[in-house]
Amino acid sequence: MMKFRQEIVEIVEGVLRPGGEPIALHEPEFSGVEEELVLDCIRSSFVSSVGKYVDQFEHELASICGVDHAVAVVNGTAALQVALRLSGVRPGSEVIMPSLTFVATANAAHYLGGLPHFVDISEDTLGVNPIALRNHLNRVTDKRTGRLINRDTGRPIDAIVPMHAFGHPSDLDGLLEVADEFNLPLIEDAAEALGSRWRGKSCGSFGSMGALSFNGNKIITTGGGGAILTDDAELAHQAKHLTTTAKVLHRWAFSHDEIGYNFRMPNLNAALGVAQLRQIESRIRSKRNLAKRYQNAFSDFGHGYCFEERPEAQSNYWLNALVLNPEVADARDEVLESLHEVGVMARPAWEPLHQLSIYRDCPRDDLPVTEGLARRIVNLPSSSFLGELYCG
Ligand SMILES: *Cc1c(COP(=O)(O)O)cnc(C)c1O
Repeated sequence: MMKFRQEIVEIVEGVLRPGGEPIALHEPEFSGVEEELVLDCIRSSFVSSVGKYVDQFEHELASICGVDHAVAVVNGTAALQVALRLSGVRPGSEVIMPSLTFVATANAAHYLGGLPHFVDISEDTLGVNPIALRNHLNRVTDKRTGRLINRDTGRPIDAIVPMHAFGHPSDLDGLLEVADEFNLPLIEDAAEALGSRWRGKSCGSFGSMGALSFNGNKIITTGGGGAILTDDAELAHQAKHLTTTAKVLHRWAFSHDEIGYNFRMPNLNAALGVAQLRQIESRIRSKRNLAKRYQNAFSDFGHGYCFEERPEAQSNYWLNALVLNPEVADARDEVLESLHEVGVMARPAWEPLHQLSIYRDCPRDDLPVTEGLARRIVNLPSSSFLGELYCG
């Protein structure tokens, strides 16, 4: 077993060639005009809820993602929360989602009084498996008065939220079909997948709405931030309204026509975002280069593989994932320890949400693939500069 751990360390060191310095899992990078635009923003004094950078960021983001509208907000969790609310999630709603995701996906539903309803994923995509989802919905739901009701709980199921894990697109063909069949809105948690594509179309642009995150560990960062993507002008208008305290437009009057949120992205963060967005294409190139290097390095490894995109997908490879074979899954934490010993800050995948005490009692299907995979994943350092270093 010692030998197998040592082999992983040597392969990873071969890809990263560490010079003794610790290598983080994912670092923010500021190699463009960040300082210039942030300074300009400070000097303009419009650092907060008003200013040109928010509009510019939204327009450029929408254009990159191939959608008509982007609404910038304070973080990805808030983007999901507002997208779910505008999709009809209410107190008592169940929201279909994977269990192998960051806790924010479930929290967003919970903040609205809804409950996550966990379904299994596919080993091919690491995202929700549409076939298992269809079977599950056929088994546990009734259509009553135009709504889909979970027969076991009596509660309505009101939305499907696929999550594109580590930047890899879920099977959007299959998921859109199921959403259509059961007449459910599909909202993508594309927090990790800015720039990823499925059949050439951007992640976040498939459902009625998509949510992005620009947290410090994502492919581009605004310090903290998020966005809602949509092609629907009315939804975009409502998202902007709801995230800006639902203030009625007027030159001086303070009037609010519903209970909104203070979720607007500050102009200062948007300035950073405008500079970061200009680097998205080169970052994706570097990350794909790094992923290739990991995949090649692990191609003869007998105890697992580096996850590779499906033929329909072009992934941003936000985080590389080494998937250990089931027979060595129990050694995962020792692998993590060996990597940390040489300064490689690898990390396991999230603990599946249905195994957390806070979400243990939520409705769910059987989750054999989720439970199997969660124990076998080791995320490897994936900052885009690591892919630039040895391009040759
Ligand atoms: C990062 C992330 C979010 C939310 O992001 P924040 O901006 O940190 O609120 C949501 N879902 C997933 C899967 C994420 O990785």
